[in-house]
Amino acid sequence: MTGLMQGKRGLIMGLANDRSLAWGIAKALHEQGAEMAFTYQGEALGKRVKPLAEQLGSDTLIECDVSDMGALDRAFDELAQKWPTIDFVVHAIGFADKNELRGRYYDTSLENFLMTMNISVYSFTAVAKRAREMMPNGGSLLTLTYYGSEKVVPHYNVMGVAKSALDTSVKYLAVDLGRDNIRVNAISAGPIKTLAASGIGDFRYILKWNELNSPLRRNVTIEDVGGAGLYMLSDLASGVTGEIHHVDGGYNVIGMKAEDAPDI
Ligand code: NAD
Repeated sequence: MTGLMQGKRGLIMGLANDRSLAWGIAKALHEQGAEMAFTYQGEALGKRVKPLAEQLGSDTLIECDVSDMGALDRAFDELAQKWPTIDFVVHAIGFADKNELRGRYYDTSLENFLMTMNISVYSFTAVAKRAREMMPNGGSLLTLTYYGSEKVVPHYNVMGVAKSALDTSVKYLAVDLGRDNIRVNAISAGPIKTLAASGIGDFRYILKWNELNSPLRRNVTIEDVGGAGLYMLSDLASGVTGEIHHVDGGYNVIGMKAEDAPDI
């Protein structure tokens, strides 16, 4: 299986290092022939992202803090200078004050609530609007969500509320952009140890719980997420939009786990 993404080019937003979910997706896209540009948040991350982008044959790095609409406009203008059209965008961005990713949800401050919604939810809508202008022949947008949007996961707090809003944004955007032949989907990934995840209280316990309770009895990897991302962004998923696709070892289907017995 080669060349699924041959002739397609797009933007990867949210690569921080080689443990990022964005890295798993970018690697899978590269293996299938995609050309990619990358945005990064701030100089320090830029230094880490540059060699990774180079590994995938890309020299296009654009600084962009998605909480700044001017920076987003400039990033898309810069991209349009390089490529008049694109086929896909990966939005792998989320942020909340880690002091509020532990303890009680009701302690969330208004300031952090608004910042979390801005960076983790609104940015996807703002990206979709700008990406549309570069997708005259259609395209595919992908964001990353988590099960904490559907059910309460300890410590996930305001990020769970934000991911619910992100999931709903995916559906509204899928309807808005369907007439432009632009598909909009999310992958709901199981827990994976990344920079962002390290801010979540007791994350090791969440990992252990998922490993023990998911049907596949293991945690997923960025390569698992990469395969699903490739599917969503390639023509294999040409009829799929508005979908929240779980890549979580099946964890989300479990209501109550059976007592472990050899025949169950
Ligand atoms: P990561 O730390 O590798 O990536 C998070 C990225 O968000 C970083 O590149 C960071 O620079 C970027 N970011 C944060 N604030 C930004 C801003 N203002 N402007 C621009 N970029 C900004 O962690 P990750 O786990 O790969 O996270 C990627 C996405 O996957 C997030 O949306 C996260 O919620 C989601 N996700 C992660 C897990 C997990 O367990 N790791 C599970 C499900 C979903």
